[in-house]
Parts: sequence; structure tokens; C-alpha cells
Amino acid sequence: STPESDFWVKRDDLTHAVYGGNKVRKLERIISQAKARGATRLVTIGAAGSHHVLATTYFGRRAGLEIEAVLVPQPSTPHVLDILRADVALGLHAFPVSSWSAAPLAIGLRIAAGAWPVTVGGSNVSGAMGYVDAGRELAAQVQRGDLPEPDVCVVALGSGGTAAGLAAGFAAARLKTYVVGVCVSSPQWVLRLAALLLARACARRAGVDVTLASMRSRLRFDGRFLGPGYGHVTAAGDDATMLARDAAGLTLDPTYTAKTFASALWHVRARRARHVLYWHTLSSAPMAP
Ligand SMILES: *Cc1c(COP(=O)(O)O)cnc(C)c1O
Repeated sequence: STPESDFWVKRDDLTHAVYGGNKVRKLERIISQAKARGATRLVTIGAAGSHHVLATTYFGRRAGLEIEAVLVPQPSTPHVLDILRADVALGLHAFPVSSWSAAPLAIGLRIAAGAWPVTVGGSNVSGAMGYVDAGRELAAQVQRGDLPEPDVCVVALGSGGTAAGLAAGFAAARLKTYVVGVCVSSPQWVLRLAALLLARACARRAGVDVTLASMRSRLRFDGRFLGPGYGHVTAAGDDATMLARDAAGLTLDPTYTAKTFASALWHVRARRARHVLYWHTLSSAPMAP
């Protein structure tokens, strides 16, 4: 155990004035690449309240593209309904299906009809490279003396691009910081393996020679806060949400950031590391009615 931990927050809720959060850094690259290759219509996939679908719709429409999404059910919360309303208001063409197993056929039909596919969560190598840059950005902040070099960076792990890109970015920037991806969906072993492979691919693209074994110490996982599954509210997440609001003025969502903040708090309370960085991935921009 170490002396008292300190706790830092990386404010990726502020990546954009209209819709921020972690999808902004991924979509910058994905959308410009799709446009460069002549795409006029994108299709992506997500749960009904997917931030990725909303971000793809907003940034895609701004870039002059038509946006389609195959939408899969998830537990309904007020936040999920807000996202769906915003999707519809922005002109998303929604293709609802009844389960994840029905999704591949639905998306295949849209691709056959000419839409350009965007990976779930924007977590292909192109999207995740946005988080390699983010890792370098943090290294520059450490260098400037804005914060001490974190021992651990705690971040939500959904489709894995954010955690994978950060782990590769920290390696490229030669920070000692390791990433803890807090699993918010399942099956966990598939997502963990996919994230490790993606981190290795990003590191190699960034010019760092790494093995899967070395990525394993850079990118670790915390599966303890998932609860009954993706999108389900948990008691630990609710406690973390109240504490984040009262102590740090941060608003969390039940699916991603509540569970991740709970893990970050655990790292502080258990004194697992001296300098703990929580990477905040949820947009804090106000959503218009
Ligand atoms: C999409 C999302 C995540 C998960 O990011 P991945 O790169 O898919 O792992 C985390 N937090 C929030 C708020 C998100 O919207």
C-alpha cells in the first residue's frame, strides 16, 4: 500500500461545445477518412441510447453525410430517451432490431444498399488512433507540470478503442502510466482480448514495437463493477454518481462513467496507486430539447 492517493480528472467531457465526450476524437479520423473515400452515407450500430450513434449522427450530418444506424434494445433510462430524441431530431435513419444477433443481417443489408460501415463504438484502428494522440496530449501536460505522472489511468471499456488507444499512446510517449479498462459490457473475455489486440495494432501504427505480453501490463481490466450487464444501473454506480456530483461537480451516466468512477474511487480508497487519473468520457454539453 502507498501513502495517500491523489485523484485527477481528464475532462474529455469538454472535447466539443455541442456534443463532447470520447467519441469526438475517434470520429474526427473516421469521418474524414470516409469522406476522402467518397462516402455519402454512413451506417453504424449501437444500443438504443448509444453515445456513438448520437456522435456519429451529429458529426456526420455536420460533414454533410446521411447517417443510418441499426439500433439494439437496452434498459430504458431517462438518459437513453434523451439520446434517442436527439438522434431523431438530427435526422438519423434508424433501423431497430430486436437483439444483437439480428444486427449483422440488418447492417449487411444497409452496406449492400451503399452505406459506408462505421465500426461499433468507432473502435477500429483509425478511431482508436485518436486516443493515441490523447495519450500524447496527456504526456505533454505531465511535461508542462499540469499534473504528476499518473500511476494508473482508469477509463471505461465499452468497445475498447479509448482504453486501447490510451495504452498505446502512453507507451509511445514513454509514460509509466498503465490503463485500467473498466468493463461495462460483456462477454468480457472477448472485449478484453479485442482491446489488447487493438492496443498492439495502435502501438505498432505509432511506431512502438510491442508484444501482446507487454501490452498486458499496460492495459489491465476491472470487471467488478459491471453488475447485471450493459446499461443496468448498479448501487456502486449510484454512490459514485452522487459523490462525483457533490465532490467534483461532474455528471455521470449509469452505463459507462458511473461504473468507471466507482472503480477509480476504489483505486484511491484502497491506495492502489499514488497518482490516480480518472479519464472522463461523457459529454457535459447541454442537450437541447
Ligand atoms: C462510448 C463510451 C465509452 C466507451 O468507449 P469505448 O472506446 O467504446 O470503450 C465510455 N464512456 C462513454 C460516456 C461513452 O459514450
